[in-house]
Amino acid sequence: MSDIIVHDATIITLDQSDRIIKRGTIRVSGNRITAVAPTTSADQRSEAAHVIDAEGKIAIPGLIDTHRHTDFALVQGLFSDLGGAELLKEALALYHTAESTLGKSFFEAAWGFACLRQLSHGVTTVNAMDFTPAIGAEAIGQAGLRGVIGPEIADFLKPKSGQEQLRDARRFIERYHGAFDGRVLASIAPGGEVGCSRDVWRGVAELRDDYPELRLHTHLYDSPAAETMAAGSGADDPITLLEQFGLLDDRTLLTHLLHADRRDARRIAEAGAHVVHCPTVYSYFQAGEQAWFPLPALREHGANVVLGLDDPFWFDCWDLFQEAKHARLLANFEYRAQQWSSYDLLKMLTIDAARALGLDDQIGSLKPGKRADLLLIDIDSPRHQPISNLPAALTNTVTAGDVETVVVDGELLVDGGTVKAMDVEAVQTTAEHERERLQQNAGWETSISGSRPPETSILRRVSPRPLIRAMKHWGQGSVNEFFQ
Ligand SMILES: [Zn+2]
Repeated sequence: MSDIIVHDATIITLDQSDRIIKRGTIRVSGNRITAVAPTTSADQRSEAAHVIDAEGKIAIPGLIDTHRHTDFALVQGLFSDLGGAELLKEALALYHTAESTLGKSFFEAAWGFACLRQLSHGVTTVNAMDFTPAIGAEAIGQAGLRGVIGPEIADFLKPKSGQEQLRDARRFIERYHGAFDGRVLASIAPGGEVGCSRDVWRGVAELRDDYPELRLHTHLYDSPAAETMAAGSGADDPITLLEQFGLLDDRTLLTHLLHADRRDARRIAEAGAHVVHCPTVYSYFQAGEQAWFPLPALREHGANVVLGLDDPFWFDCWDLFQEAKHARLLANFEYRAQQWSSYDLLKMLTIDAARALGLDDQIGSLKPGKRADLLLIDIDSPRHQPISNLPAALTNTVTAGDVETVVVDGELLVDGGTVKAMDVEAVQTTAEHERERLQQNAGWETSISGSRPPETSILRRVSPRPLIRAMKHWGQGSVNEFFQ
């Protein structure tokens, strides 16, 4: 007998034949999908632990956020009205002080809050890069979600030495890769050419040799000084840096590429590496010289481009449908209309994202044999009806607020709008408490109408030592000048 039967849904399967079933049934047994087919009268009368009449709803695979940081999710609202440069300073100040002044409870609350946001936005899988990966693995695992989690390794951004960070990463991989019935996986996550010394890249290559099944997840070309920084590590450019260590292949995810050019795009595509684009964060906080990633060249050479929210708490929105919409509008603005079709965008949030993570045989489409990660979206309202073009509706008018039901690995985590997988009140209360501690300790002034950062100079709030090392490596001037 099935555990879950969803009948009479409009199913967008995202399978190889791009099948859309107007009135269909999905059967789930244990953690797997066992059938996806047009609804029969027998389906409507079937018995199961959960029978969901999905008339007026769309079923799609769970959404996949392919690049996110979570440690500081509780800053939501603090940064909303800051400019890019100011935000970077304030973020750095928090990153340097939170661990010692706020401690573990702050990060536990942040991950709990993030899991709740994820559940309520239909994000069933996240590809995270964080400084508190073990807390994240526990939170994601216990919330019933799926996550690929990389301990961020960056000796220029963290006081701990590169070697210590590499050892921590190895311990994390040993402990958590495949945990929670395989819902939690580890990745190898060097911060990027900005944050890592050549020694760290060498250690990353060793980790990769020891764990070839893991994804490599990194930032690349997110700064106009990317080439200078790669030169500091002895390479002509960031792509060459990865090539020198054997890190550029189809197990690699490169995030941002804002300052990459057509030639870089060709090299990335030819190596089979995947590209993660995060359009909202970079347009919300445009800092410095305007740049955008080389989409036409990436497409021309056949690169797999997917989407991530990055730091959604900086711009207060965890909605991947909106992220897809922003991706399209900004790409059209930069490169002319029709860069992506609506269906392309849906694939980027599901099956293409699963492929980037090496999980396309498990998730990303609704197909018998796959793990049961799916959403039901309520479109039976005057806001949406009548609908004639479903992919267009999903990427233009539907929002995460329309997600009604969330299933991950065969478990009903959100049922008809009610979150079952977490104690919502406890998560909210803890998040509020920790957020108050953050404000008291970091000196922010906040009220319901907005937030103001502390007036004390950042140089009096952070330890300059890692910054001085980084400046030297990047060939930049003094720390004082940098923070003028
Ligand atoms: Zn990032």
